[in-house]
Amino acid sequence: MKTLWPTARNLTSILSSAVDEQSGDSPLTGKVPFFGKLAFVDLTRETVVLRDIPADHFRTYLGGPGLVLGELLRLIPVGADPLGPENVLAFSPGLLAGAQVPGFPRFTVLALSPLTGALGKSEAAGYFAPELKKAGIAAILVQGRAESPVYLWVTGQGIEIRPATHIWGADPKVAQGIIRAEVGEPRARTASIGIGGENLVSFAGIGNDLSHFNGRNGLGAVMGSKNLKAIAARGAGDLDVADADRMRELYRTASDLAKTNPLTRTLHELGTPAGMELSNAAGCLPTNNWQSAVFADVDKIGARRLTDEFLVKPGGCYMCPIRCKRLVKVDDPLFAVDTEFGGPEYETLAALGSNCGVNSLEVIIKANELCNIYTIDTISVGMTISFAMACYEAGLLTAEDTAGLELRFGNNDAILPLIEDIARRRGPLGRLLADGSAVAARRIGNGAEQFLLTVKDQEIPMHDPRVKTGLGLQFALSPMGGDHWFAQHDPFFATETSAGTVAFASIGLDEAVSPLDLGPDKVRMVARSSFLHGLYDDLGVCIFAAVARSMTPLDVIVGMVNAATGWQASLPELLRAGERTNTLYRLFNHRHGVRADRDTLPSRFFKPFADGPLAGKQALDPLEFAQAVRLYYAMAGWDPETGVPTHDTLHGLGLEGFVDLL
Ligand code: SF4
Repeated sequence: MKTLWPTARNLTSILSSAVDEQSGDSPLTGKVPFFGKLAFVDLTRETVVLRDIPADHFRTYLGGPGLVLGELLRLIPVGADPLGPENVLAFSPGLLAGAQVPGFPRFTVLALSPLTGALGKSEAAGYFAPELKKAGIAAILVQGRAESPVYLWVTGQGIEIRPATHIWGADPKVAQGIIRAEVGEPRARTASIGIGGENLVSFAGIGNDLSHFNGRNGLGAVMGSKNLKAIAARGAGDLDVADADRMRELYRTASDLAKTNPLTRTLHELGTPAGMELSNAAGCLPTNNWQSAVFADVDKIGARRLTDEFLVKPGGCYMCPIRCKRLVKVDDPLFAVDTEFGGPEYETLAALGSNCGVNSLEVIIKANELCNIYTIDTISVGMTISFAMACYEAGLLTAEDTAGLELRFGNNDAILPLIEDIARRRGPLGRLLADGSAVAARRIGNGAEQFLLTVKDQEIPMHDPRVKTGLGLQFALSPMGGDHWFAQHDPFFATETSAGTVAFASIGLDEAVSPLDLGPDKVRMVARSSFLHGLYDDLGVCIFAAVARSMTPLDVIVGMVNAATGWQASLPELLRAGERTNTLYRLFNHRHGVRADRDTLPSRFFKPFADGPLAGKQALDPLEFAQAVRLYYAMAGWDPETGVPTHDTLHGLGLEGFVDLL
């Protein structure tokens, strides 16, 4: 029998040879200051201003979202149109992105979201952020709107605004090739939008290096609204860290852990798709718009088949030995894909597969490629299609609405044409669904809301809060709407020897708490780990490369920060920075009118499972859930009723300069 978990296979050679393949990591000449500049690009005025950032500002806010949230609070006016020139789009690498340590390739894109009307925030890994940092850039804030399409060219010499009319409408690979030829730099790294972003699809994302995505919250539509096709970057040298010998030592420590950590090994072997079979066996795999929790054909679309029949090789990110990404090919010419656009993750397999009743892995792989070419978010598009299928089966959408398309669960043939229509805003159904399921439900009316699975109008990811109650709190409390990276997941704390209970003892999360518990211990886990996730994003560590999921423990992370910066920062100090970031998220939403009444869950989760091993069980209790939300507010130092950060909290975090926003 095949097992999902790697057995005795020794991955050492695979993991170490992986780094050698990363040709783009080759050393550049010269040294670039570790702390870069803040770049303000005004596309309306066609100006670029590079501003130095005081050293103590970095120590307080680190990088990533923390570094730019204050600017976004200052620059985006109340009542701004998310697709108007007054919105500001920030690209902010984590503090350690570009340093020669494994697992820190991430950057955050932020703006007011066109999907939620709240904070838009989405992380991506890859090679783009290290390149920005090596060009001396700590973050870029894009304001205004270009008169005609443009791209940015970022180097150690500065930032140029260049015309992009000739690549508007081109797919990201073509655009990348043309840009690289124009700038004369074949190793330039590009972040760009496809036609989904150009057509202002509300859940359009941004792709870098073709296969890494800031997928959520519609930030690709914000980029499209600014007529910004792409940002290309090439560094000027390696980052000048404070203690290079110590960095090398910590690199070796993390790399050694990568070879032995069992979760790291599973990620390398099977990638995130491993979640398909595991969720189905547990009776919580989103199926047919979450009306079911088991999918009979899971083996046809699961990790094992993906690995055995379609995997070309694992793909990866800057300096990371894990290489958890799936690079795939399909032999059937009907579904042939370009391997460079990457393969489906767990979220995609579930959202476009079981969640739509689709049992063809070839269709899902092709659908994933189309979404990546058009840069539209696979979670939102899968959830929006499954919502439409539920409406169709209930008679709320008719064959007239769908131009004859049989929009039933399990119709494999419906998926690919519908993705085309959505990305192009083509036809009545494409236009209806391109603004997301929440807007579509309001337009359809007649009770269509009963099929909605959104929080703050963003479609939820593929994790059921009935078996992970803390995950339900994350969905409700995440400033970005339905999101599964706001805090740690419950199973990591299920027993006293679980990965999270062991890894986070140093931050007081050393007690086991059941995934089904929704009491104070669970709220405490969510609160503390939400601060930790603020820190992870500020530093740019990939969630799959950091504990509890993988190789890099907290003390190693603290060591890397200090070796890179020359600080003597402690874990509590860094965690405080994560808490500061989390509070700034909340302030942003408060300023833009997003209040506590939107910290909710879809009604589906207050009913028991309909089928599978958990049939008739696990309904969340609405009163207990509301109480847990209020307790989170209190633990975060926010008013327990309104969820607004208190004056005392702002002062305690050194955010007194933002008190006026309350
Ligand atoms: S764990 Fe995977 S996604 Fe994260 S940095 Fe490594 S290869 Fe990239």
